[in-house]
Amino acid sequence: MGCGGTVLKHFPIFLNVKQKHIAVVGGGDAAIAKLRLLLKTEGQITVYDNAPALEICSWRDAGVLTISQDPLTVKQARNACLIYAAAEDDGRDAASQKLAQEAGTLFNWVDNLSQSDFITPAIVDRDPVTVAIGTEGAAPVVARAIKRDIESNLPQALGKLAKIGQAFRSQAGALPFGRVRRDFWSAFYFGTGPKAYDASGQEGAQAALDQLLQDFSKGAPKQGRVDFVGAGPGDPTLLTHKARVLLHEADVVLYDKLVDPHILELARREAVMVEVGKTGFGESMAQSDINQLIIDHVHTGAQVVRLKSGDPTVFGRLDEELEAIAVHDISHSIVPGITAASAAAASLGRSLTQRGRNSSLRLTTGHNMAGFADQDWRGMANPDTVAAIYMGKASARFIQGRLMMHGADPETPISVVENVSRLDQKIISTCLKLLPKAIKDVTGPAVLLYGVNIRFKKIKIL
Ligand code: SAH
Repeated sequence: MGCGGTVLKHFPIFLNVKQKHIAVVGGGDAAIAKLRLLLKTEGQITVYDNAPALEICSWRDAGVLTISQDPLTVKQARNACLIYAAAEDDGRDAASQKLAQEAGTLFNWVDNLSQSDFITPAIVDRDPVTVAIGTEGAAPVVARAIKRDIESNLPQALGKLAKIGQAFRSQAGALPFGRVRRDFWSAFYFGTGPKAYDASGQEGAQAALDQLLQDFSKGAPKQGRVDFVGAGPGDPTLLTHKARVLLHEADVVLYDKLVDPHILELARREAVMVEVGKTGFGESMAQSDINQLIIDHVHTGAQVVRLKSGDPTVFGRLDEELEAIAVHDISHSIVPGITAASAAAASLGRSLTQRGRNSSLRLTTGHNMAGFADQDWRGMANPDTVAAIYMGKASARFIQGRLMMHGADPETPISVVENVSRLDQKIISTCLKLLPKAIKDVTGPAVLLYGVNIRFKKIKIL
């Protein structure tokens, strides 16, 4: 009887198959699917089939499995630790089952749960870390969805880190048992380890481990760092995976006003959340104060995320902040995000560059720190120019005036996309001549795609 209300029909175990025989009877698609998993093991695999698929023959040629043209015998069945019936032929598969029963060997009939002794789970492989997912055959779709989620949440390098960590266990034994040692390993696997491995591979991870041990032995405070992270245009599903992970790990999040509240919810409940910067002209906090705030938090040992809307490298004042932290030699990274122009083009169903239309794209702004931004107006007035104009609302009339003065066609299409990717997204399709009027009621953040019209309009015109 089960404890706590559960009654498992299948008990999950990890079976040692090293140097053991595994028999797969069949040579078609079902066999291939199982072989892909079995080939991850150190088992000795034999495929019993007289006309196996090419893929199986190529595995044989690579020396990773053996093919037997003759059928499985009782002796071989006895010698195997697992038998898979994968012939996709009831007669042959039933014969394999009979042999397995005679031999007393664990048996799996592919896609036939009721006739199998065991089932093969979905696997997430970060050898030596393996996650096996089973639904007792009830919902393979659910198992696949869980696998996908776990795949994306476990660092790719986790297996490599675990191997490095395993070899380091005795050295880590120098740390006091309990909390300190747990914190040490947790800092390695989920903090410095993956970052160091990403940056400089095995050697980097090894060095990070040595450094971490030194720090922990001295009882040194945790090293702070800052990551400049792109939050994308608003829709949380447009965040990068890296952004999600960093937000989840952050002790402090310094965010711009434009960052969507749904994204802020991805930070931990205990994280310190500070709004810095503001939309439109002027700032609610001086840039120098923002810089100082980053530095102060990093110096407390905090993991700081400086969260910027869109992509941090596009009109994000990133360089000022990078220069400020460079003086203090602070560890950092830049995580790109989807910039408003990319999301706006997607919402219009258009591309930003198009063969035969424009081979370059301008990212430009309606105003800069000194007020309205001056541009290469003559270049922009050329008929094939495509430009994404950021912060262009207040300067719409100025932009229109300059462009027309430099000979731009008053009919040049402009798409204004407000609150792109958010639930309240709005698209206004207009042209240079009508721009100031068309834009006057726009209250949310908006990007202007100059030279691009919405796709259905184009189709209508044709
Ligand atoms: N780094 C940001 C741009 C910051 S400047 C990025 O890469 O997108 C701020 C300007 O970006 C706004 O004035 C507006 O023009 C544009 N913007 C940012 N988010 C937007 C959104 N969700 N919808 C439309 N425009 C947006």
